[in-house]
Amino acid sequence: MGETKYIFVTGGVASSLGKGIISSSIGKLLQARGYNVTIQKFDPYINIDPGTLNPYEHGECYVTADGHEADLDLGHYERFLGIETTKANNITTGRIYKSVIDKERRGDFLGKTVQVVPHITDEIKRNIKLLGNKYKFDFVITEIGGTVGDIESLPYMESIRQLKWELGQNALCVHLTYVPFLAAAKELKTKPTQHSVKELQSLGIQADVLVLRSEHDLSANLRKKVALFCNVEEKAVVQSVDVPTIYEVPLKMQEQHLDKTILRKMGLPIGKDPELESWRTFLSRRAKAFEIVTIGLVGKYVELQDAYKSILESLSQAATYNDRKLVIEYIQSETLMPENIDEKLGKVDGVVICPGFGSRGIEGKFLAARYTRERDIPTFGVCLGMQCLVVEFARNVLGYAGANSVEMDEKTPYNVIDIMEEQKAVTNMGGTMRLGAYECVIAKDSRVFGIYGQEHIQERHRHRYEFNNDYRREYEQNGMKCTGINPESDLVEIVEIPTLKWYIGTQFHPEYRSTVLNPHPLFLSFIKAAINK
Ligand code: GLN
Repeated sequence: MGETKYIFVTGGVASSLGKGIISSSIGKLLQARGYNVTIQKFDPYINIDPGTLNPYEHGECYVTADGHEADLDLGHYERFLGIETTKANNITTGRIYKSVIDKERRGDFLGKTVQVVPHITDEIKRNIKLLGNKYKFDFVITEIGGTVGDIESLPYMESIRQLKWELGQNALCVHLTYVPFLAAAKELKTKPTQHSVKELQSLGIQADVLVLRSEHDLSANLRKKVALFCNVEEKAVVQSVDVPTIYEVPLKMQEQHLDKTILRKMGLPIGKDPELESWRTFLSRRAKAFEIVTIGLVGKYVELQDAYKSILESLSQAATYNDRKLVIEYIQSETLMPENIDEKLGKVDGVVICPGFGSRGIEGKFLAARYTRERDIPTFGVCLGMQCLVVEFARNVLGYAGANSVEMDEKTPYNVIDIMEEQKAVTNMGGTMRLGAYECVIAKDSRVFGIYGQEHIQERHRHRYEFNNDYRREYEQNGMKCTGINPESDLVEIVEIPTLKWYIGTQFHPEYRSTVLNPHPLFLSFIKAAINK
């Protein structure tokens, strides 16, 4: 296409308006027109990455194939576009400053005073343009975390101002705001949007496109008024009203010609609207699925759905492809007891034992693993969840009372899950786990081989502990098979009990690879087993 085009997505009025979904939807529409698109997110906090952040702060930590612990919005980008993101797709203020400070220590600035402008802003601009220059994308969509007016995001806004100036028609700003409905006055209010656009203007940035989030349909008059007050073309003011699923948003944007407006503003040919056929098929299957499949999610962050975002999305995609409506029963593992387990797990069709860290709620997860094993309820253990299946098996089948993961009990007499050799010397917490995609070889006589239909797979990891190979034979002899092995390190990546309907644990996180148009085979098969239960 020639020169890379840069689209900046900023937000105003309130946080959590769905900048990630709007960015993904724009990306999807441009990609459907044949462009090579990527999406990047800047997070204005000081942490180097979200890897050390508690899920209460930041929801799930998403992991890219190249082993970057990333913001969960990258999950949306991958699920919508079916692309693979990398470390270059998620950058924090911490990383920007670190890189500038490292350069300063090396003496790269030749005696100059190092300042926010131009040094921090240059580093931000370099990271935006890197995707265009190095990876040659046609479109780089850059989402700026936070809300316009935040102190933290000022250097990003200044960088956008400069880039819009430098790049001319090759840069464009989409601003997402909120239009509240005042129930008492029965009126939709545009003033917060006007203020937010003014705030942006005071930083030297003129929004080119406005996306107005609202719970109610916005009239043409209201949009006209916003356009007038905000210096934005009428056609470039679109609305984003709540829809039953986030996957409808690209179609809603297409209906309002958002992609065409962007192309026209950037001087690109417009052509025909893409059909988005498989996307529409997915949505209509989803809308038509009435029969329910109920999955119990056993975890310790159940009051916080973002903590298991990718698992929930993977399950719901898999339900759609099995023509079922997904219902999730959130089961807080801390409250799970022998007395109430029947009531909590007795009626679900399948159980996912969630990933996690630390011992809070761990005994409840062991209890769930035992309950579903003994009753042959389809069970999927992911990462820590897989480790729970292994510990429970040691305690109740192999007869090793007190067996545990060393993470939970350093002095366990039966360390069936142990710390990985290369983790023993690790002292820094950030970015030091076993991260990213690793190869796994699947045993040909296993259930997972049937599910994947291939012997060599690559899946993404994020953990410090592993299955202890000293116990492998004993497990195998007693019915729990190690059916996926890393060919280099010999680490056990998959366990399963083949005599049960569906009892599988994976040390990796398959949920990071499930997308709308390419649902993950393990989730598809798990949901199918849950339905057949
Ligand atoms: N806490 C476990 C480990 O570090 C599992 C991690 C996870 O579930 N992501 O090995």
